[in-house]
Amino acid sequence: MVEQRNDKTEQLQAEIIKLRSQKDRLLKELDAVEAQYGNIDSLYRRYFPIILDALSQEDTAFGNACVELATAMRKKASPAKIEYIFGQIKTAMIHEDINPPAASKKKGFFASFRKNSSEDQTLENFRQSYQDVVNQLKSILDEKYTKKLELITSNLLKIEAIQDFEVVRENIFALIFNYITETSQGREKVNAFVRDIVAKIFEIEKRLTSSYEQTSSLISSNKGLESILNDEVAGIKDSFDAAESLDDLRAKISEGLSSIEKALEKKQKVDQAISRLAEKSKNSFTSGFAKLKQELHSATKYSEELEKKLNEDQLTGAKNRRAYDNKIEEEMDRFLRYKTIFSLLVIDADKFKNINDTYGHAIGDRCLQEIIKRTQPLLRKSDMLARYGGEEFVVIMPETDTKGAMKVAEKIRQTIEKIEFLYKEDTVRLTVSIGVSCIKEGDKSPMDLFGRADMAVYKAKENGRNQVMTQ
Ligand code: GH3
Ligand code: MG
Ligand code: MG
Repeated sequence: MVEQRNDKTEQLQAEIIKLRSQKDRLLKELDAVEAQYGNIDSLYRRYFPIILDALSQEDTAFGNACVELATAMRKKASPAKIEYIFGQIKTAMIHEDINPPAASKKKGFFASFRKNSSEDQTLENFRQSYQDVVNQLKSILDEKYTKKLELITSNLLKIEAIQDFEVVRENIFALIFNYITETSQGREKVNAFVRDIVAKIFEIEKRLTSSYEQTSSLISSNKGLESILNDEVAGIKDSFDAAESLDDLRAKISEGLSSIEKALEKKQKVDQAISRLAEKSKNSFTSGFAKLKQELHSATKYSEELEKKLNEDQLTGAKNRRAYDNKIEEEMDRFLRYKTIFSLLVIDADKFKNINDTYGHAIGDRCLQEIIKRTQPLLRKSDMLARYGGEEFVVIMPETDTKGAMKVAEKIRQTIEKIEFLYKEDTVRLTVSIGVSCIKEGDKSPMDLFGRADMAVYKAKENGRNQVMTQ
């Protein structure tokens, strides 16, 4: 009986110990629950204002739900109410971000993190800048280019993203190159025009580049935000791991967390895509402009070579009649406007027909080349020696009076008379007669000046050749 009682007491004591430890465990668990709530609550309070501020600016279901959540949290609303709003946020996030309606694709989740609010305006500014360039081209180029320019305008209107400008820019360049190669306009005029247009396009490109830079700095600042949010998410998850027995609580809140993670992942992907696109566009602009510079360089070189050929005498390499006509017109204009004087020499090879007849045309040609070769070093850089035609040459001497011109003419005459060509056993000698004239009051056209120099040559010939005369 006593034994029985002892057994019972032991049993009851064991039961009490078990119940005590159970009570301790439950109390500990309760403490953990309270700590968990406190922890999560403080995390929420730190965590939500960051996204709520950023995201509630737009009038979207998500933005409105954020505002509602903030209010509920401030008012210490019941967990059921918070959970309900959380559900609304999740629905809004999925609806607005994962399946954005086509017409309002820029209003998705995290829209205010991106630069989309000003993107339309930026696009519009660039469209207008390029349209200005097109308009300028329209007013300068002839009608032949109108259709192409109109096509560029219609492409401009279709543009929906910044990188689409690349095609427009390339079309404009192609058109400019086409114009450069086809035009018969003066080189200086064309160069000035190209410089002007290219400067404008460079300006637009510079603005585009800086807008990309802004975008990428915006993206990196968002990266900072993302890492805060990621840390918070990981922190909350860690706390859940410690509270394994609180399945219910965990289920409710982890649902919300996974939505945020999803949204962050989505945002990261979008940002990376924007970043890649911006980088790609920037690179293509840079290489496009390098190509343009190269092409402009070769076009300019080509046109300079063409220009040189147009003004050059094939046989002697001296300037030709065309170059002379342009230069004498310029000097005449300067004289009429500023009274700046200039002189002209007309040099005619003496008895040149005899040289051809005696030694052959090829030797005659060599003599003409030699006249140029020996005369050129006797002149100033500003003087122009040109082959007027046949065995006649002219020298335009800016800011030189008759006396100065006579001196140079005499030097030329003496130099040429000393040239000795050896042809077989013979020595070929050559002389020139030179007529000198200086511009004077009353002269209206270059022909007045040329006429006097030509008359002076005639006089020199009459006087026995190999001499300098003035009229
Ligand atoms: P003058 O002293 O009166 O000027 O006698 P000229 O023989 O020089 O004058 P003319 O006008 O009678 O003859 C010019 C000659 O110059 C005739 C032509 O064969 C020669 N001539 C013109 N152009 C060239 C050329 O490109 N090469 C050669 N070899 N001869 C040329
Ligand atoms: Mg002659
Ligand atoms: Mg002659």
